[in-house]
Amino acid sequence: MTTVAAYAAPAAKAPLERTTIERRAVGEHDVLIDIKFAGICHSDIHQAREGWGEAIFPMVPGHEIAGIVSEVGPGVTEFAVGDRVGVGCMVDSCGECENCRSGREQFCTGSGMVGTYNAVGKDGEPTYGGYSQKIVVDERYVVRIPDGLSLDVAAPLLCAGITTYSPLKHWGAGPGKKVAVIGLGGLGHMGVKIAHALGAEVTVLSQSLRKKEDGLKLGADHYYATSDPKTFEELAGTFDLILSTVSAPLDFGAYLGLLKTGGALVNVGAPEEPVSLNLFSLIGGNKTLAGSMIGGIAETQEMLDFCAGHGIGAEIELIGAAEINEAYERVLSSDVRYRFVIDTATI
Ligand SMILES: [Zn+2]
Ligand SMILES: [Zn+2]
Repeated sequence: MTTVAAYAAPAAKAPLERTTIERRAVGEHDVLIDIKFAGICHSDIHQAREGWGEAIFPMVPGHEIAGIVSEVGPGVTEFAVGDRVGVGCMVDSCGECENCRSGREQFCTGSGMVGTYNAVGKDGEPTYGGYSQKIVVDERYVVRIPDGLSLDVAAPLLCAGITTYSPLKHWGAGPGKKVAVIGLGGLGHMGVKIAHALGAEVTVLSQSLRKKEDGLKLGADHYYATSDPKTFEELAGTFDLILSTVSAPLDFGAYLGLLKTGGALVNVGAPEEPVSLNLFSLIGGNKTLAGSMIGGIAETQEMLDFCAGHGIGAEIELIGAAEINEAYERVLSSDVRYRFVIDTATI
């Protein structure tokens, strides 16, 4: 066991504070990672405030982890000391069920996916996330960060990157396709960059035109305000694919009206409240309303290689650990361009 400095929420809705946690001894197939950077994902805030249901406290959030391997277990074959690596939303699964074997470990039906934090590991101990200085992870849940990507801008790719890359790939974003991204936040800005790099014609649908200049710089071809009812008239029947990245409840029926016949609206946001939908907006035009949750380990590696190949990192605001609580408030008021990343040396 190693004692490690961390930032934790001691209870639901309580401010995060500095503490120490224990990391397990490095096992046969484990790597010890010196965490350098950890992104702040909106879901960290949902969970630290119990917005998604009962949670485990104290909680050390953080599932956008980038660091350097500092020790490996005797059975580790893929990683060596000094390697640049990342850890995303999961640190374990059964490895044997149909989903695990097909690279969709996030939907493990055996032991279930073990979340990087706010979960219980196979050893019966709670898992603690990336707002800390070190983490011990089974090598099967560790990915390689290519040399061309700086660790600070790579960290958010481990959740925001894969969450948008996976559905964009799955639903065929590419040349000749018109793709809209709803919301230009942490997820949305990655969606724009990745959809653009995949060769799609990209439109941002944002509440206002406040971030229009940024959106166009990030790779969007068009930018519309959804607060303007004319947007929904003008863009009716336009898109092959719409990716919704917002966690506020939306009028999905209105957005389905923007799809071409046979188009798909994929939701990756996780609102705390249910939404309602008139199903006529689906059956008229054979439309699909789909969901997507992060991606498997192999696909996460593919995404990192793709991002490195296209020079894509997240747009970040680097903060010290003492600023985490303030950063949470700013995320909630959409005042971040576009991801806060904690320099874990400051913990
Ligand atoms: Zn996340
Ligand atoms: Zn499994």
